Amino acid sequence: MEKLYEGKSKIVYAGPDEWTCYIKYKDTATAGNGAKKEDLPEKGRINAQISNIIFDYLTRYGIKTHMLRFVDPTMILAKKAEIIPLEVVVRNVAAGHFSSRYGVEEGSALKNVVVEYSYKNDDLGDPLICDSQITALGIAEQFELDEIKELALKINELLVRFFDKAGIKLIDFKIELGRYNGEIILCDEISPDCARLWDKTTNEKMDKDRFRRDMGDVMYYYQEILRRVMKANE
Ligand code: C5P
Repeated sequence: MEKLYEGKSKIVYAGPDEWTCYIKYKDTATAGNGAKKEDLPEKGRINAQISNIIFDYLTRYGIKTHMLRFVDPTMILAKKAEIIPLEVVVRNVAAGHFSSRYGVEEGSALKNVVVEYSYKNDDLGDPLICDSQITALGIAEQFELDEIKELALKINELLVRFFDKAGIKLIDFKIELGRYNGEIILCDEISPDCARLWDKTTNEKMDKDRFRRDMGDVMYYYQEILRRVMKANE
């Protein structure tokens, strides 16, 4: 297979035609822009499964995604979208960089849902970026940003409901979007690698913060998230 791109947690290969690509989920976990790196056996398979269940659920509610089908347990065939180099973060509760940047305790309630953008660029450390900077740099047009924000908020509403059913609080998450056939579609993944997920009753962290913060039992919690989202999807 022809490798098109290798990221920190996934590899993209050319697909059977020019409109598709294969995406392989790796077991590698990284944090701090690659400063901390480890292999977590089964992570690729578990994240591929979790993300697929969530994308399936979102599709049922009218969200367009890049997912076509599984090729093997760690690889999907996807629509080959033109990825918009933005990390779109949605926050329901203060945590992570929001807490450290603005000096608010992790777990604090927010008066409204936050949607923020970072420019996806490893060399620059994915800096925060605002609408007028995005349009000034030609990363996306304002009408696309308006659509992206609406889409991010709709996905958030659907995910909050879904995770609640799974006994999980959705604290925040990151999505990536792409242009395909004149539309903006959801790409990349939604998994504990890119979402903060806390147990609804104990507030226990069940996501990648366990790896970032050396809390241990990372794969135990990822497996538990898979179990719960499978059940919530029944
Ligand atoms: O670090 P920060 O608090 O900005 O992260 C917000 C959310 O975005 C978290 O759920 C985190 O897992 C996700 N994220 C990500 N990839 C990044 C940065 C953040 O998936 N490069």
